[in-house]
Amino acid sequence: MLNFNSGPAALPESVLQEAAKAVVNYNDTGLSILSIPHRGHLFQAILDESRQLVHELCGLDDSYEVLWMHGGGRLQFCMVPMNFLSPKHAAGYIDSGHWSKEAMDYARHYGDIVMLSSSAEDNYCCLPEWPEVISKALSYVHVTTNNTIYGTQWPKLPKIAAPLIADMSSDIFSRAIDYTNCSMFYAVAQKNIGPAGATLVVIKKDLLKKANHDLPPMLSYAAHANKGSVLNTPPVFAIYVSMLMLRWTKERGIAGIEAENNAKAAALYQEIDRNALFYGVAKKEDRSKMNACYAAHNKAHEKAFIEFCSKQNITGIEGHRSIGGLRASLYNAVSLDDVKQLVAAMQAFEKQHS
Ligand SMILES: *Cc1c(COP(=O)(O)O)cnc(C)c1O
Repeated sequence: MLNFNSGPAALPESVLQEAAKAVVNYNDTGLSILSIPHRGHLFQAILDESRQLVHELCGLDDSYEVLWMHGGGRLQFCMVPMNFLSPKHAAGYIDSGHWSKEAMDYARHYGDIVMLSSSAEDNYCCLPEWPEVISKALSYVHVTTNNTIYGTQWPKLPKIAAPLIADMSSDIFSRAIDYTNCSMFYAVAQKNIGPAGATLVVIKKDLLKKANHDLPPMLSYAAHANKGSVLNTPPVFAIYVSMLMLRWTKERGIAGIEAENNAKAAALYQEIDRNALFYGVAKKEDRSKMNACYAAHNKAHEKAFIEFCSKQNITGIEGHRSIGGLRASLYNAVSLDDVKQLVAAMQAFEKQHS
């Protein structure tokens, strides 16, 4: 089955095989990975290796803390303002789509927010302008690097005067980017990292020192950091599979992954632009290499195409329920060959319907 789901997303066969083996007998310990103690040496080794891999893949030094947390993207939408929105200084939000807006709306519960720019008026079909001036007095600036639902993506992250906090849930490890321009970045596992249940959070220690410490421990980044991500029972299996996926990512190398992602996106967008039945939804210059959003000129063709694909063992190409249309997610575990098969299906469908 070719899986273009937006998340939980496809994982490589080799990672799935190893994870399946570990469920029965982890590393010949005679124990299932589902039953190892979370404060023992076996899990500590998994945590240590995963942190090391994140540091390597993102080019970070020890000034960054790597945490694994529960609660998905939405808990980060709450914890970011709870920890870093000071009562004296507003936080800036860049509104480029569904998730960035949700992050901003959650933050309004905790203090003053300024929307620095927005493409809501264009139905998020393009990126907003990057704000020209960013005051260093802002508590932080929040940005979503890839807009999973609308299919746009920031090409790079500039250095700014205030701490930059990035939601990288749907494009982390997909390309070379300067992670060190961020004071914090986070990503839910279920797109490019692993299974749902774990969220990767990386925070500069400087910023961590400024965090609000007057919070219940489960909602405090500092408390999680002090306990090395085992404040309570962590999602051991999700972190383990994420670690396997980080190994897979390192084996291929970010440069190799980026080259394949570029080729995948080019192949699919070329077909979207060529095919008489379909059109791309996002503005060309802002197109995402992770989530290609498109639609059919004749709405009835969308449902028919989804059915056509399912007969050819292609799944996950429905657009998000909030906007409809079609979307193929091209995360790291999706191969160029998978994309070529989707392109072939689009061509065969066009022949049938024109
Ligand atoms: C999927 C996604 C989320 C939401 O994650 P949940 O774990 O479902 O809360 C947040 N941000 C972005 C950019 C996403 O793609």
